[in-house]
Amino acid sequence: MARETLKLVVIGHVDHGKSTLIGRLIIDTGSLPKGKIKELKKISRELGKDTEIAFLLDQLREEREQSRTIDTTQVFLKTSKRDYVVIDTPGHAEFIKNMMTGASCAQAAILMIDINEGMMEQTKRHAYLISMLGIKKVIVALNKIDLVNYDQARFSALKCEIAVFLNRINIAPAAIIPISAKEGVNIYKKDKKIKWHYGPSLISCLDALKSDLRVANMPLRFPVQDIYDLDRAKMIVGRLESGLLKKGQQVVLLPQNKKTKVSSIHVFGYRGKKTAYRGENIGLILDNCPGVKRGDVIVGQNCAPMPSSSFKGHVFWMSDQPFLLHKKMIFRCATQEVGCIGVSIEKKIDSATLGIIDKDPRELRFNEAGSVLFKTDVPVVVENFTFIEALGRFTIENGQEVQGAGIITEKLP
Ligand code: GDP
Repeated sequence: MARETLKLVVIGHVDHGKSTLIGRLIIDTGSLPKGKIKELKKISRELGKDTEIAFLLDQLREEREQSRTIDTTQVFLKTSKRDYVVIDTPGHAEFIKNMMTGASCAQAAILMIDINEGMMEQTKRHAYLISMLGIKKVIVALNKIDLVNYDQARFSALKCEIAVFLNRINIAPAAIIPISAKEGVNIYKKDKKIKWHYGPSLISCLDALKSDLRVANMPLRFPVQDIYDLDRAKMIVGRLESGLLKKGQQVVLLPQNKKTKVSSIHVFGYRGKKTAYRGENIGLILDNCPGVKRGDVIVGQNCAPMPSSSFKGHVFWMSDQPFLLHKKMIFRCATQEVGCIGVSIEKKIDSATLGIIDKDPRELRFNEAGSVLFKTDVPVVVENFTFIEALGRFTIENGQEVQGAGIITEKLP
């Protein structure tokens, strides 16, 4: 049976130990050959760099940047239970953009908090973002427990404060645990130094998270990414974002509302595939699909949604240029890309304090969030985020940069 993969992000304030933890996880899970670790240590010493664990990740980042064939944002881990893809994006702004564009589309998050510093602004903003993105599987790691002499009282006090904050943004963490990423305490196995901690180690917590990749009873949604001309047919490629797709199934191509049938499903050149599941990257040959283009969405006949050009969304703004009402922007959702405007803003909030700053404002500024009513130039296939995440997550762009991102809270007729 194929091993399961879980996509993970490590989030938190700068210097709270994210890189050190990823390096530690790579070492402790034995995800790199021993020779490779030695080689990286040697390079690091030769460069005169501090041989601390975060160096390992720096070296891997450099290697990945030099090798164009490797995705620059992913680190692979293996435990006895499953494989993990850790989305590693150094830099706060890049990280937020990656998360919001769905490029990184994590299923679980580790929130790192330095026990000496507690929750900082970036801790809160990242937590707010993952809550907004609907990432429900969250483990909080209170790091640098070695710096407070493994003190239980310090851990317990901060644990309560964090639980209260997370509760306000609807995150119920799977666990809040003490660790030392640097010393390797409570990462792979439990440690005598924290005898008072009865809960699991970090890796046991991760392995205990339930994956929900195969949700079969959701409606079919297949956004078209690209089309290849074959000798006698067109191969339509993309990622199955929701539901199941079966060979021979009757489907509808939206927004043109054209009925057709799946002739064959292809994966890595193999054409005999009978069923595709959510999360799979596949190629499809349809019976008849003239005019199919990137941005179209293939749906099931019994569950075809009405394309819509008006909806409410919760937006997080991350550009120095403010978000202004009635200004033309680009709306991107899955592979769809159309012009749009913001019609009204119900309220705006500060993503670190969660306080309401203004009601009915005219603009959103950097790091502010708000509920916005949008209108697109043409109808798009969107869904409430709580129903189908991939079609409920969007970005707002100006042609050069991703300026804001959000989730759809209400689809309007
Ligand atoms: P990032 O900015 O969140 O990626 O943080 P880094 O992983 O780069 O760590 C920042 C600093 O904290 C580095 O000097 C690390 O060696 C140090 N650090 C990370 N984890 C621990 C820990 O568990 N204990 C101690 N004492 N230092 C740590």
